[in-house]
Amino acid sequence: MAVAEAVKQNAYDAAMQNFDLAADALELDPNIREMIKYPERILQVNLPVRMDDGHIHRFEGYRVQHSTSRGPAKGGIRYHPNVTLDEVKALATWMTWKCAVVNIPFGGGKGGITCSPKDMSQGELERMTRRYAASILPIIGPERDIPAPDVYTNSQVMAWIMDTYSMTKGYPIPGVVTGKPIALGGSLGRNEATGRGVFYTLQGACEHLKIPIKGSKVVVQGFGNAGSIAAQLLDSNQAFVIAASDSRAAIYNKNGLDVPKLIMHKEKTGQVLGFPGAEEIRASELLALNCDILVPAALENAIDGDNAPNVRAKIVGEAANGPVTPEGDKVLEGKGIFLIPDILCNAGGVTVSYFEWVQDEQHLFWEAQDVYNRLEQVMHAAFAEVLKIRLEHKVSMRTAANMLGIGRVAEATKLRGLYP
Ligand code: NAD
Repeated sequence: MAVAEAVKQNAYDAAMQNFDLAADALELDPNIREMIKYPERILQVNLPVRMDDGHIHRFEGYRVQHSTSRGPAKGGIRYHPNVTLDEVKALATWMTWKCAVVNIPFGGGKGGITCSPKDMSQGELERMTRRYAASILPIIGPERDIPAPDVYTNSQVMAWIMDTYSMTKGYPIPGVVTGKPIALGGSLGRNEATGRGVFYTLQGACEHLKIPIKGSKVVVQGFGNAGSIAAQLLDSNQAFVIAASDSRAAIYNKNGLDVPKLIMHKEKTGQVLGFPGAEEIRASELLALNCDILVPAALENAIDGDNAPNVRAKIVGEAANGPVTPEGDKVLEGKGIFLIPDILCNAGGVTVSYFEWVQDEQHLFWEAQDVYNRLEQVMHAAFAEVLKIRLEHKVSMRTAANMLGIGRVAEATKLRGLYP
């Protein structure tokens, strides 16, 4: 199913189903289960914005804090026409388990605005962002809830949020967001952190399955931040990235695409289509290509019960959040495909966000290599822990990752007790 179509399905239902599977496997205390399953706080905001032609357009925005049991809420902000409250709730829930899987002291949150950023000018985007930042201001902050970029938001959007927050408080507060420009207290290595983390978990999976990365065939759905960086690292480790796609088209070259050149082509033209030496294929064909590693790095529900039977990869590394539905999971598992679940696979982004927050709080900044070394350590440790649970409990990698994350949140919740 095409991603654009599929995002209409309810990601929150999938998040709840996956929670129940892991909570059952953990034999979680029903009281704790009730306490940690649902979002702690949901804020919905109306955002009137003056558009360039003078009229006022009303956008709808959300910020959901799923959990603050283990620390401040943490999670990105998405600008997309298909953003819904349920989608934001699902993404916030996954952030909670994700931060716990990599054992960083954050809870989970997420935000979004239903909008078409591609059709908006920079001025319109800035005004909408600042209005949104002002509207969610009462619940965010370096000790409360720390937003970051997600689909179609970037370091410039984070700079506007940091500025709006700081102007209102009266002094500069860089730690309110991560994914900022380096000049404003961003971390070296944050931009490529998610893709790098995806690569480290793929290394773990390849080692476990004894598939050499060198010479492996890779397919990437969604050649954006996460997907293109993962592709670049795989390419520089001598894998062949044979296909890639974006929201407009999918391209293929059986001998491997020249990834650094494709990144430049995408930066220059805004799309993968038209890349010299590659043929256009249908989005559905891309997912069905014979390959070793498939990296869905676009949006939710890309692989579902209908198209999962066509997947021929040996490993699926979920760079995106929620790209495989629970029905899709069952099919992939039945086919013996090794899945690296999103809350493990793409946790490199939030891990380096945590490093950025630590650096901002300390006013002391690290070298890029320090960031990479620490990230590699965190990702390899998390992969090993999840794999151990999978092998010990004979559960899927997704359930194993959820068991690790949910188990840690449950422990923190139990220790804190029930207020009042
Ligand atoms: P991005 O905006 O940089 O890239 C998304 C890419 O997906 C774009 O190239 C877009 O054209 C493409 N796309 C959109 N719809 C598509 C479709 N139907 N088919 C194929 N491609 C399509 O966003 P990103 O930051 O790379 O995020 C991608 C995914 O990774 C999201 O699910 C996001 O939540 C997840 N993620 C991102 C980060 C991060 O730090 N950037 C961290 C964790 C998870």
